[in-house]
Amino acid sequence: MSPVEEAAEILRGFGIDASAGELESRSPIDGQLIGAVKIGDAGKACTNAAKAFLDWRLVPAPRRGELVRLLGEELRAVKEPLARLVTIECGKIVQESLGEVQEMIDICDYAVGLSRQLYGLTIASERPNHRMMEQWHPLGPVLVISAFNFPVAVWAWNAALALVCGDPVIWKPSEKTPLVAEAVMTLVRRALDRFGDAPEGLVQVVQGGRDVGEALVDDKRIALVSATGSTAMGRSVGPRVAQRFGRALLELGGNNGMIVCPSADLALAERAILFSAAGTAGQRCTTLRRVIVHKSVADRLVDRIKQLFASVQIGDPRDEGTLIGPLIDETAFEGMRNVLGDRIERINAVPGGFYVRPAIVELPKQEGSVLKETFAPILYVLRYGDFDEAVAMHNAVPQGLSSSIFTSDMREAERFISVAGSDCGIANVNIGPSGAEIGGAFGGEKETGGGRESGSDSWRAYMRRQTNTINYGTELPLAQGIRFDVAP
Ligand code: NAD
Repeated sequence: MSPVEEAAEILRGFGIDASAGELESRSPIDGQLIGAVKIGDAGKACTNAAKAFLDWRLVPAPRRGELVRLLGEELRAVKEPLARLVTIECGKIVQESLGEVQEMIDICDYAVGLSRQLYGLTIASERPNHRMMEQWHPLGPVLVISAFNFPVAVWAWNAALALVCGDPVIWKPSEKTPLVAEAVMTLVRRALDRFGDAPEGLVQVVQGGRDVGEALVDDKRIALVSATGSTAMGRSVGPRVAQRFGRALLELGGNNGMIVCPSADLALAERAILFSAAGTAGQRCTTLRRVIVHKSVADRLVDRIKQLFASVQIGDPRDEGTLIGPLIDETAFEGMRNVLGDRIERINAVPGGFYVRPAIVELPKQEGSVLKETFAPILYVLRYGDFDEAVAMHNAVPQGLSSSIFTSDMREAERFISVAGSDCGIANVNIGPSGAEIGGAFGGEKETGGGRESGSDSWRAYMRRQTNTINYGTELPLAQGIRFDVAP
């Protein structure tokens, strides 16, 4: 079946009519049109969300969790067709799309448990007969702006938490992947119907490009903007939200490195490198872009990666055996060609799609294009002699998302994850930098934006903290022993 036919069949299954609209979607598999959707109304969505907030914040959190539990059930029921639609619309292989939908299910499960654990602290008061505590209250409407490469999971990471935290959600999906967002909204509607009494406008999608994103970002009724995409996008969104004193959670570009030490298990390292550098056609924020390898093992490792890159199966991401699908579009291909020039190897896999062989570039020094994120499968290799030099090289890029080390030396491993080691939000030992689990907080430092979402205590970004002091005595002592009495 062609991508167009398969997309039509899946969309029918979801009850979606994607035959008309200003925003067209093309499959990167063959560049053909697979549907179109209408551009949304940002202002109306904010009005609806602000109204929904007034009711949803009053619903007990465990009951809010029930809605997310039902959403998880709906996702389980259609995991396969939703994953195939992700593959058709963004080009990642079916295995990875299944993983992406599984991540949505996982975060739903996580959020259901979380809905009974939105804990505050009690704090010792310095005053007699006083009690201090903090509470976490719902924050307000949350805007989720998502990128094309994780077209559904990023929304789920945010939405599942926001909903249990008491916040309505507006989703501005990537303009390159509008159809999967419509499919997810079908599931949301099914879950809402089963839930029964959720307010109108609790979960909305607003389709469109950058201009629609900007209109939403500027709307004062949006309490939190959670934006995932390029550093250029974050550079625009961050100040706009700050200008109106809104809250921003930025998940931006990465330039992820791996240090391979002399004691590394090279067989493991090579497998990790293949998945994290070439998987998703190099289009993950956590994609491995830089290998910093000790000179004693560099030749062996580089030879082996070259062999793997040369033999990896590239083609239609729906085919079993394919490990690398197409780039998202021609612009991505041109971005890769700008770096590689004539050395780019285009593969004629499916006419109309942009398929490339992953490339290795060996560099004597870390300068030029290696300092930027090119969203394509280019792996830079740098050699080192001294461990401190390797760590310094690793950190000497503007981005700070994910990182890893391969070593059997416990001292090197511990130094890499210590305060003087990797400066990234994620630092792994003997696994690659990509493929995070939802249980940990996800995000990075520096130009990656500083946001954290998904697991651990990331939920706090979706709530407002209130500190309470309660006096149950008959006196009114002031803090710090201040005396402020009217003379008798
Ligand atoms: P992009 O920045 O082009 O677009 C991302 C989203 O932002 C889209 O929905 C787009 O419409 C919107 N947008 C763009 N400019 C905007 C603006 N000024 N105001 C409001 N909205 C705006 O990114 P992309 O090409 O879709 O995705 C690839 C990029 O995303 C890479 O840099 C990748 O590293 C990054 N990414 C980061 C993470 C992370 O968690 N750190 C995850 C996935 C992707």
